[in-house]
Amino acid sequence: MSAEFTVRRRLGDLSVLHWFVIGGSLLLILFASSFASAEIEKELEAQFAFDSAQTIDLVQDRMEQYEVGLWAGVGLIDALGAERPLRRADWVDFAGSLDLVNRYPGINGIGVIYYVPETRIDDYLSRFSDQYPELDDFGIKPDTPGPDHFPITFIEPFESNDEAVGLDMAFETNRYRGALAARATGSAQITGPIVLVQDDGQTPGFLFFAPFVVEGEDRFDGMVYAPFVVQRLMAGVLDAERRNVAISISDVGNVIYDEHHGGFDGHDPDPMFADTVDVEMYGRVWTFDVRSTIAFRDLAAGNEPAVILIVGLLVDAMLIFLFTTTTRSKKQALAYADQVTGDLRDTLDKLETTNASLARSNRDLERFAYAASHDLQTPIRTVSNYATLLSEELGSKLTEAESGHLRSLVRASQRMSEMVRSVLDYSRIGHDEAPRWVDLREPVQIAIDDLAADIESAAAFVHVGDLPTVYGRPDSLVVLFRNLIGNALKYKRKGRPPVIRLSAERDGQVWLIRCADNGIGIEDEYRDRVFEIFTRLNPKGKYDGAGIGLALCKRVVEAHDGTIDVTDNDQGGSTFTIRLPQGSPEGARAPSAGVTVS
Ligand code: ADP
Repeated sequence: MSAEFTVRRRLGDLSVLHWFVIGGSLLLILFASSFASAEIEKELEAQFAFDSAQTIDLVQDRMEQYEVGLWAGVGLIDALGAERPLRRADWVDFAGSLDLVNRYPGINGIGVIYYVPETRIDDYLSRFSDQYPELDDFGIKPDTPGPDHFPITFIEPFESNDEAVGLDMAFETNRYRGALAARATGSAQITGPIVLVQDDGQTPGFLFFAPFVVEGEDRFDGMVYAPFVVQRLMAGVLDAERRNVAISISDVGNVIYDEHHGGFDGHDPDPMFADTVDVEMYGRVWTFDVRSTIAFRDLAAGNEPAVILIVGLLVDAMLIFLFTTTTRSKKQALAYADQVTGDLRDTLDKLETTNASLARSNRDLERFAYAASHDLQTPIRTVSNYATLLSEELGSKLTEAESGHLRSLVRASQRMSEMVRSVLDYSRIGHDEAPRWVDLREPVQIAIDDLAADIESAAAFVHVGDLPTVYGRPDSLVVLFRNLIGNALKYKRKGRPPVIRLSAERDGQVWLIRCADNGIGIEDEYRDRVFEIFTRLNPKGKYDGAGIGLALCKRVVEAHDGTIDVTDNDQGGSTFTIRLPQGSPEGARAPSAGVTVS
């Protein structure tokens, strides 16, 4: 049988209920695992949203920090006022006190730009040319037409920014617009993307402006400013540690910062989550394109749903195995029980047949014994009678020896006649008599009468106690008591007249009828055997008998649905106990009064 066929056959053994349980558990497993993955997806989404917001917040926070630095510069200029114009040395002190490198990572420097209308260029130059003795060409550059000029006047640290000194913000659109916006709004502004003159890398950058006024309410005198290379700014803002998200920033479509490339540590070419967020940034709109990184993917690597699915499927497989095994065991047990039942039935049938044939042969034997003993009686009696006649007629003519032979013949034929009568009695028990209610005193009395001569010759004492009425066959009961009393007379002790007591007592639903004597008793080991037919314990010649008497008694008692056994008693003799069912309430009648015979 192929393995596949075996598996298919075993699965076929399962019941609808089994399949229902297996199907139900499968559904539950699928539901649990999909629920778990949906939950995890939700959690991841929330985590991504949180990480995105945190990263954008970081950039915004840092920009605010720089703004504060710019306003500090504005504060210094305000504090000096119109009377005491700002000098380069003031700015060097101020910038030094800011500790740019440590407190403003990513900043390129911090400087001051003055607003110089075309009409006041000379004024401006005469005011500040003495501030840069090391420069030959201090002025406003490049030459830019127009009414407004915004030259960078101070910038610290000077060494890294010297190229910027004198640079006019009006020379280039983004710078110019930023300056105008700061002037117009009076608030901090940033420029659109530019390339700083001091950035050799030519990477995107921007300027951060905070406007100030020195003379009068409505005037605009210039801006404190800070240049930024975005790359450096972000390196200072965002930690280099494994981040869950990467960003790129664009300003009106121009990418100013980008981490979405292979060079970025943790770049995920196929991010699990991505989002774009527009952030208003000091007059500009920065679009943050946020994507999850490899680090985020690791975070999401929890495989709870897969574990649920695998464990669940394993449990289901075990269920199927268990169900098929138990079903198979049950089938095998049933098949075995069927086989055993069949075997038992066969055995029973055989037993019944044997019983029937045994009963049949028993009946045949009984019939044969009955017919033989019945037919033998007449010839034996004839032999016995003629022997007696002969001994009477020839009496005196015979020698002593011949008379002895004749006497032996008479005795033997009489013994034979008794034996045949016993066999006849035995085979007749329970057959030729209808049962009726019998007062046990009646059969006992008949038996005593039958044995009167023996009783007298043995000088025996027979005491009959109270006896009950039972449902039975009177003649059989006579045979029973005649044998019991007869044996008690026969197996007496020498030199002691036999004392025989018949008594009865009730024990639940049965009568216990006892026949006790003070005879020679029966040894323990023979107490069962004495009831077998033709069993005799004593040597032949000592006591007459054929070994049929107690077998007869047993047969009578069993024909009355009772039992018989023998025990010893304190007289040294035997006590035969007969148990007879009470039969009916009528059978439970009070025992009739007893008599004593002697
Ligand atoms: P029997 O014809 O020999 O008396 P029974 O069947 O009546 O045959 O008794 C079987 C044997 O049981 C007897 O041979 C005898 O040894 C013993 N037996 C029977 N009744 C008594 C008794 N009352 N006391 C002692 N022995 C007995």
